[in-house]
Amino acid sequence: MKALRYVAIGQAPEVVDIPIPSPGPGQVLLKVTAGGVCHSDDYVMSLPEKDYFEQSYPLPLTLGHEGAGIVHEIGEGVDSTLRVGDAVAVYGPWGCGRCHNCSTGQENYCTNAAAEGIRPPGLGSQGSMAEYMIVDNARHLVPLGDLDPVQNVSLTDAGLTPYHAIKRSLPKLGAGTFAVVIGTGGLGHVGIQILKALSGATVIALDVNDEKLELATHVGADHVLISDGAAAGKIREITGGLGADAVFDFVGANPTMALAQSVAALDSDVTIVGIGGGTMALSFGSIAFDAAVRMPYWGSRSELIEVLDLARAGKISVEVETYGLDDGPKAYEDLAAGRIRGRAVIVP
Ligand code: NAD
Ligand code: ZN
Ligand code: ZN
Repeated sequence: MKALRYVAIGQAPEVVDIPIPSPGPGQVLLKVTAGGVCHSDDYVMSLPEKDYFEQSYPLPLTLGHEGAGIVHEIGEGVDSTLRVGDAVAVYGPWGCGRCHNCSTGQENYCTNAAAEGIRPPGLGSQGSMAEYMIVDNARHLVPLGDLDPVQNVSLTDAGLTPYHAIKRSLPKLGAGTFAVVIGTGGLGHVGIQILKALSGATVIALDVNDEKLELATHVGADHVLISDGAAAGKIREITGGLGADAVFDFVGANPTMALAQSVAALDSDVTIVGIGGGTMALSFGSIAFDAAVRMPYWGSRSELIEVLDLARAGKISVEVETYGLDDGPKAYEDLAAGRIRGRAVIVP
């Protein structure tokens, strides 16, 4: 089968031919219908050799932590109602399934995964950018039903991650409030829709790219601003001087984290989702009183079901640009160059 793999440190991923894997006991083999391209893949491929191996990434690594497929073969001893031919989405943050967090469906916060070497597909285990993929346990598979896999595969991360981030701030986002979204790419453009669907907040979206701001308006942002030195002042103006009740930073670089900090209102939530290498210096008076800074990771299994339900209800959708597996390397080039509107999805 063809697979899009990261094969050498610092080099672009390559399409290679490898054997179709067989599901071991407890595992499920999917025929992949779609795999989404995330900026985090770029982050992993940008790690220097020492950090890459210290963080236990294997080489070669089949990319793709957003996956959807058709159940192709079920391994021995799989205890599930799953049937060959079922259309499924892959819940990516795999955990041990036994710890307290896993028991509540929050496998993204599994307390045993690191010690037991349990890694998400495409981020340690072999991922979805291939014709077939192994899923370690049937509980990681969520029925897609009538949702189109190509249009919806990215909800497994670009939907689930902002959903988890936003859901915790909903008590602060009633009518008359303001939410700021920084970075309106893959995650951000879905985040705007989730805010509009679930909260009463006026949404102010920022990006450095005019086309991304056009997309932000298209998906429902109330105000769009270029993310530059003047942005904080404009946000103050829009919010009547009070600042934003919640800020979601889908970039996480120094300038965006400084912006997030400076526009946070009293008792607000500042949520840093992007892993752009930024840091935030906090001291008394450097952020509004009682503002809380959070750094969430991905989302829970039940939240993925909720996100898919939102899509089914027509309340959120992903802007998708599709690529064949052979064009996978080009998808990453286009992502790095800021040419993707919404999310790039590989269709094998
Ligand atoms: P993306 O490339 O699709 O979108 C990023 C957007 O940010 C682009 O539109 C870009 O133009 C914009 N941008 C860049 N610099 C900016 C700036 N200074 N101000 C405003 N906007 C700016 O990326 P994505 O796939 O949506 O991922 C977003 C970030 O979230 C990445 O850092 C990714 O690694 C991270 N991520 C984190 C989690 C998590 O669980 N915490 C999960 C998925 C992705
Ligand atoms: Zn991701
Ligand atoms: Zn666990």
